[in-house]
Amino acid sequence: MAAGGRGRRRRRLAGLVAALVASAACMVEPVRQPAEPTGSRQPASPSAEVTRADGTDTVEEFQQDIADAQRLAERYWTEQFQASGQSFRPIRRIIPYQRDGEVSCGGQELPRNNAVYCTVSDFIAYDVNWSFGAFRQIGDAFVFYLLGHEYAHGVQTRLGIRYNFTVQQELQADCMAGAYLGDSVRAGTLILDDGDLDEFNEGLLAVGDDPGQPWFAEDSHGSPEQRAESFFRGYERSLSACDLG
Ligand SMILES: [Zn+2]
Repeated sequence: MAAGGRGRRRRRLAGLVAALVASAACMVEPVRQPAEPTGSRQPASPSAEVTRADGTDTVEEFQQDIADAQRLAERYWTEQFQASGQSFRPIRRIIPYQRDGEVSCGGQELPRNNAVYCTVSDFIAYDVNWSFGAFRQIGDAFVFYLLGHEYAHGVQTRLGIRYNFTVQQELQADCMAGAYLGDSVRAGTLILDDGDLDEFNEGLLAVGDDPGQPWFAEDSHGSPEQRAESFFRGYERSLSACDLG
């Protein structure tokens, strides 16, 4: 997917997207409610389908990648929970939106240029135009990362994980997103094309906080190096590297 001129174009534009992502992603996460007990709903039966991140950048491909990333994440976390004898309740909904305030989480309207996991209502919402722009500029790997990161917040909620500092919560979500992607690649359920790992790396370096951002601030997500380190630690070593307890 990173072949030739298109790959170079994406790299050049990555910084532009970066600013958006850094200021926006996961900005609104009004949480602080205990996880509900896991329900009995079972996800779709696991199939032998293989997802291929194949680098085209049409709207149809974007929608397909969102759906694939959701299915892959549900399947992955279901298997992880089952391995420890628990059932997994998939995140209730994935909601695309286009306008400021079109979607609310816990009474707080979600602004454009954002993607969030809403703990109180158990959904992921993403600005479809913003996400599609990032998808075209960074590459399709971005969609799998974005869904993986937000999905990880839903898993943290189910596990009752709540750190004192936002940055800890965010870096762990990056690690979990890395683990879900790395494990899926190792299991053969996700096939990456040449350049996808570079896209992850560039995307993560791009979404890191600015140097002046205090690590303890409410909206801190970690420095570019911290985010990339967390993601690839999970990618290479799986969930045991993510301090899930
Ligand atoms: Zn986050």
